[in-house]
Amino acid sequence: MQIIDGKATAAQIKAEIAEEVKQIVANGGKRPHLAAILVGHDGGSETYVRNKVLACEACGFKSTLLRFEDTISEEDLLAEVDKLNRDEDVDGFIVQLPLPAHISEQKVIEAIDYRKDVDGFHPINVGRMAIGLPCYISATPKGILELLWRYHIETSGKKCVILGRSNIVGKPMAQLMMQKQYGDATVTVCHSRSRDLKKECREADIIIAAIGRPDFVTADMVKDGATIIDVGTTRVPDATKKSGFRLNGDVKYDEVSPKCSFITPVPGGVGPMTICMLMKNTLSAGKKEFYR
Ligand code: NAP
Repeated sequence: MQIIDGKATAAQIKAEIAEEVKQIVANGGKRPHLAAILVGHDGGSETYVRNKVLACEACGFKSTLLRFEDTISEEDLLAEVDKLNRDEDVDGFIVQLPLPAHISEQKVIEAIDYRKDVDGFHPINVGRMAIGLPCYISATPKGILELLWRYHIETSGKKCVILGRSNIVGKPMAQLMMQKQYGDATVTVCHSRSRDLKKECREADIIIAAIGRPDFVTADMVKDGATIIDVGTTRVPDATKKSGFRLNGDVKYDEVSPKCSFITPVPGGVGPMTICMLMKNTLSAGKKEFYR
């Protein structure tokens, strides 16, 4: 069994990005610029955005953080999005989710110029991804693909079971694993209404678990030699931690890991790749790789 080290892989990719940025700047090119909008003071969002700013520094990007109180109106937030759309110095930007209940997340996502939508949430990017056109691919599924490639895990023709059908993980993951130029696998998507979910998992060469149910995937659901990608990150109380909680994956790691060929740990597997892929998308935005 080999542990897929997302932390080390992400560090390596960030170093590769930093090197490329150095070359771009040395050749007189523009330093990529990522902007982030943060609304309110949600603890989780504050941490994510702080980590994104730190990742920008590590990659040699310029970053701008725009903060607003959670009393900001939808109209004013849309105006801020529009300002970033028109700011020629900003190559890409994100609006950190979730947003306060009085603001429509979908409206905000659709207001972002898809050419700057480095989160890959805009329907144009989602649609282009679905038909295999160049675009920003959302960070978590992109990070999983990158891990599969970097660990030389064969996916073509394999049976891949995806647990979960969310717009940010399950659905795009299924699209990507199915497509010839990415996973080229036979894909089954399971969700809360699926019958025989255990049977589907037992037949899988690759299981990608993204349901947010701690320890859901047990050893009896996994075939010998399978590859296990655990996306789940649920906070569970843990008195041994200073914070009082730990992050728990969707896979019962201790009993599943001896059976498989590759497995991602939680934490340190998929998680670190997510911000790293946002950096990759920002580099692409700076290079105008997908859109002029
Ligand atoms: P989500 O929007 O809550 O969707 C969960 C999906 O799992 C839904 O499709 C749901 O089915 C399905 N599901 C829930 N309980 C199930 C069960 N008992 N059996 C079968 N399917 C079940 O979740 P998400 O946003 O995709 O996130 C999933 C997990 O990944 C969470 O733990 C989240 O924290 C984590 N995550 C991690 C990263 C990272 O960077 N590491 C990024 C994103 C998310 P229905 O559609 O039928 O309701």
